[in-house]
Amino acid sequence: MVHDSGIMMQPVFRFAPSPNGLLHLGHAYSALLNEQEARRHGGKLLLRIEDIDRLRSRSEHVQAIFEDLEWLGIAFDGPVRFQSAHMDDYRHAADTLRQRGLLFACDCTRQRVARQAQLLSGSDEVACDPDGAPLYSRHCLHTPPLEGLPVAWRLRMDAALQAVVGHHLTYQAFAGHKNTQDTEWITQTIVPHLWGDAVLLRKDIATSYHLSVVVDDALQGVTHVVRGRDLEAATDLHRLLQALLGLPTPHYYHHDLITDAGGAKLAKSRMSKPLRLWREEGASPAMIRAMLGFA
Ligand code: GLU
Ligand code: ZN
Repeated sequence: MVHDSGIMMQPVFRFAPSPNGLLHLGHAYSALLNEQEARRHGGKLLLRIEDIDRLRSRSEHVQAIFEDLEWLGIAFDGPVRFQSAHMDDYRHAADTLRQRGLLFACDCTRQRVARQAQLLSGSDEVACDPDGAPLYSRHCLHTPPLEGLPVAWRLRMDAALQAVVGHHLTYQAFAGHKNTQDTEWITQTIVPHLWGDAVLLRKDIATSYHLSVVVDDALQGVTHVVRGRDLEAATDLHRLLQALLGLPTPHYYHHDLITDAGGAKLAKSRMSKPLRLWREEGASPAMIRAMLGFA
């Protein structure tokens, strides 16, 4: 792979599970696709444990992730990055944004956010972000929380968009099929305002999925993000954060959520059955690979 400057760069891929449950076929698909693409591009494959949520993350799940990936026969390069060990990196990124007036404190509860959204819309039908959460009313931008209360920090979306005027807010998205040998990339434009004043630092953890993932992909030199289509909308927010923080933008490959041999979405029960249950019931790694369409 040749970089703009003409220098040969080794591509870097990553698989980044959250240890709040056991891996299932959907995770296996994503991990195997990362492995396939890393091989195809002569790249590195990193493993990152996204364990910022102290309440939901469990060490036994981390252990199970290691075991399941090893059983599947996926080899990772370099040390595993645990997000919980890098809170300073996220704090630093947040400080940069805060100093530029791009964050504001918010002490709203979920209930207040929902109530305000209803007040704004005048009905129960409220505008939501791509994750389905009601768009923020900006209550705390106008009425800042009292000093000393636990707060979340939200991105000031209007100021953020203002700050990136003139940037080319696009990314290269994979547009082919997983079995095509040649890489087809299209230029994707983004619509980050759909996220509204997104929470970047949660009240309970001094970061968020969005902030951590963007900081880590940059710090780890990730060049190719291969993840499910369910995270495609999040990429718009991630691309905006990259522009604000002056970070490079990887290529993105949002894969379809897994389908079985017949092409139908895998039944929820099969799909959510933990990999280790398949294993206990006698499935081999080769069977799992074949079932998911990998040689
Ligand atoms: N940790 C996220 C998840 O397990 C994936 C994050 C990503 O690939 O960007 O859903
Ligand atoms: Zn608020």
